[in-house]
Amino acid sequence: MTGSDPLDAGAESSADDGLSADDVLSADDGLYADDVLSADDVLSAGGAVQGASPERPARSSDPERRPPRVDRPRVTIVSPHFDDAPLSLGQSLLDGALRGARVRVVVVFGRTNFTRWFHPTRGRAVPTSIWRRSEELAAQAAFHYRVRTARWEELVLRTGELDPATLLDPNAPLDQHLLDGLVTWLRRLRGDGSTVLFPGGLGDHMDHRLVAAAGRRLMAEHPDRLGFYEDRPYASLLEQSTLTAAMVALAAESAEPDASTSASSTVPLTSMVPTEVSGPVTVRLHTLLQRCYPSQIDDLFRSAMDRDLAAGARERVWFAAGECPSWLRRGGDG
Ligand SMILES: [Zn+2]
Repeated sequence: MTGSDPLDAGAESSADDGLSADDVLSADDGLYADDVLSADDVLSAGGAVQGASPERPARSSDPERRPPRVDRPRVTIVSPHFDDAPLSLGQSLLDGALRGARVRVVVVFGRTNFTRWFHPTRGRAVPTSIWRRSEELAAQAAFHYRVRTARWEELVLRTGELDPATLLDPNAPLDQHLLDGLVTWLRRLRGDGSTVLFPGGLGDHMDHRLVAAAGRRLMAEHPDRLGFYEDRPYASLLEQSTLTAAMVALAAESAEPDASTSASSTVPLTSMVPTEVSGPVTVRLHTLLQRCYPSQIDDLFRSAMDRDLAAGARERVWFAAGECPSWLRRGGDG
């Protein structure tokens, strides 16, 4: 976390950014992504880099007019890595309940050396982080959100670990010092009245487990305007009963005393309730995801997408009973 780090923690930028390292360094905070580009722009541009080019003309291709920006509810999606928000909630962002919101995506582990293209040495972290930030530029244009990137190191970078059995070990202990830092930082996201959506930690990737654990702690402080989404591609590959058990367990764990604060930081044991926030996932969504994230979408992702399509899967969020905002409950059928 030195000043020479390429990723400027807390910097927000929007789709009118270019793709150079200077742009990644800049802390510009300008237009909303969907003021500049639409998903169709990204589809027709043939890939991530062209799709986010500032040269492309602004156009308004939304068939349905949305309410003025100031009237839309605010949502913050906490994304462990570049890609998790569109992977998990992309259909809702395109044409479901989240389409009507002002969406901010917060990428937690913004320092990364992981792609499907080459061995993730430490020396490759800077160019990889810049590349993946550029993929996110395309995605924020296609899926209509702003992005904020923090500079925690993702698991592969901070540990050098590559064995999936270790990376996805559900019993591996969480780094409590790192978790404390995440909780402190993420707590601030609740300050602007946003509904904050955390990953449920499905699939047991350590980084997803850490962010989910931070969400549980914050839900224990107070449960209003805090929910969890189903992490894809992992959710697509789980049995429904396994998925449900994992999401329901978020509440049970949130009711345990939190040793790091006072004993009063508990909530009554409650049930977690799922809410559909999109219609069935579409081929268009999957095409967009592959356009935006060429460094990440591999055969595992594609098989998960195929399963979702075959099942007519819908994206869901889980809140403590009675806590889901009414506008999210409209789902994706509108
Ligand atoms: Zn992830």
